[in-house]
Amino acid sequence: MIRLNNKKALVTGGSRGIGKAVSLMLAEAGTDVALNYFKNKQAALDVKAEIEKKQRRCMIFKADLSQQEDAESMVEKINRSWGRLDILINNAGIWTFGEMGRMDYKVWSETIRTNLDGVFFVTNSVVPIMKKAGQGCIVNISSTAAVRGEAFHSHYASSKGALVSLTKSLAVELAPYKIRVNCVAPGWVDTDMCSEVFKDKEFKEKIRESIPLKRIPSPEDIAGPVLFLVSDYARHITGEVLNVNGGAVLCA
Ligand code: NAD
Repeated sequence: MIRLNNKKALVTGGSRGIGKAVSLMLAEAGTDVALNYFKNKQAALDVKAEIEKKQRRCMIFKADLSQQEDAESMVEKINRSWGRLDILINNAGIWTFGEMGRMDYKVWSETIRTNLDGVFFVTNSVVPIMKKAGQGCIVNISSTAAVRGEAFHSHYASSKGALVSLTKSLAVELAPYKIRVNCVAPGWVDTDMCSEVFKDKEFKEKIRESIPLKRIPSPEDIAGPVLFLVSDYARHITGEVLNVNGGAVLCA
């Protein structure tokens, strides 16, 4: 059983999907959790209530992490209340369609600002807190698209590929401060992000068939590996990319 008693975590985009599953698993393991929501306050309040039922503390923040001010003020408020942050899960992200040659720059930049700049804004604010404490764990949620690429989602794949480079760079840069930095790269996951495309049952079945383990994972299937990476069982792992995709990259 993984225990993370009395640790403090920030999970971006923790109000739904993978972020929600990670937040609840962290709380179950004994961690207090801060999370941001983007639009849906009620969803965040529901997660907060579930975390408090587990006797852990939870803070929620409305924040658009593509905006530097929002990201920095959220981290500052957490630090003011808790005085530390042991775990950062950079999970918030968007996945939109974009055909090269016809893609509006707005579409490209919205993805880069959310999926990459947003991670920079949060991480850049959290690292001094972790450095001061001489310890910490960061997990960046990337994607299979980072290594395999994704046609018609080149902006998304580029942003997620950058998270792999960021992870490897920071792993070495922050190792002297005992801060570990790893990446989890999911393949398809059954969340709101894919709900539109999964409405097509035939398409969903085709995806399931293409995955060697023949299943489309739940958010909890991704949260488990995240929990492992922030636990002491992974204390000698840093700069790693953990693919969680039922073997899908192997058959690319
Ligand atoms: P989701 O759409 O349910 O969750 C995305 C979260 O990001 C939401 O909580 C949303 O509020 C937050 N978010 C989006 N834009 C934001 C912004 N500007 N500021 C603050 N928060 C913002 O999808 P999910 O599947 O749970 O995605 C979580 C992470 O997993 C994402 O980074 C995604 O790219 C990655 N991922 C998902 C899949 C998949 O198939 N679902 C596959 C690979 C990687």
